[in-house]
Amino acid sequence: MTERFEVTLNTPAGRLTTALDVPTAFIPITAVVPIARRLGEEAAHLEEHRVRENGRTISCRMGCAACCRMLVPVSPPEAFALRRYVEQLPADRRAIVSKRLADSQMLLQAHGLWDRLWSVADARQAVSDEELDPLNRTYYALRHPCPFLENEMCSIYEARPAACRELQVTSPAEYCEDLVSNPVVALPVSMRIGTILGLLWGSLTKTCPRLIPLPIALGWAEKHQEAEERTWPGSQVIDELLDKMWQFLSQEFETRKAKP
Ligand code: SF4
Repeated sequence: MTERFEVTLNTPAGRLTTALDVPTAFIPITAVVPIARRLGEEAAHLEEHRVRENGRTISCRMGCAACCRMLVPVSPPEAFALRRYVEQLPADRRAIVSKRLADSQMLLQAHGLWDRLWSVADARQAVSDEELDPLNRTYYALRHPCPFLENEMCSIYEARPAACRELQVTSPAEYCEDLVSNPVVALPVSMRIGTILGLLWGSLTKTCPRLIPLPIALGWAEKHQEAEERTWPGSQVIDELLDKMWQFLSQEFETRKAKP
């Protein structure tokens, strides 16, 4: 059973009005992932529209996966949803994913990064962007392809994390070969859905906001599967989700106002 509500969000790229079907029963946290992603994508469409109106074009194209060598942050709800997605894949596909994840683990262990990824995922306090920066840089320096990348295409496209959906650029695609040294121009992101879902999870579970590095997301979800089985009233989850979105948007307005 659901109840339909109309929601309005003022984003820096314009007003977003949409209908939300809110479950009236108790729901697990994974139920909110598609709702949050849809709102994030609608906000992103407003940004894309604005960019095109200003005469710029988005350079991202199918088969271009230069950014799939970065360390992708995944919120706990998305990590649980991704684990479920992988579990329902046909056995041969699951075996391929498992092999890639195992190879990735070996490489990251060899470079001393595996334990560092786990200490971020299981940190007792929120890890700031500044604290994460050295890890992000070391990881990116490896140019290690995401374990879900196959022939330069995302093999979990419909289930890919919000962070992957949000990175789009207007600078020439070849600049993305080196995202650190080249003057890459990314589209502004009104709502970072991974961050918002991380905040939501922290609020519902009375823990700190958390983001999990993608290469260990399935392992983290397995380790914390008891938490995945918890449920909350659907209206509470959606109220808190919208609250986190409003908080994020108001910060985003402030950040953009402060930019020269
Ligand atoms: S999940 Fe897909 S889109 Fe995201 S980094 Fe991996 S291959 Fe790329």
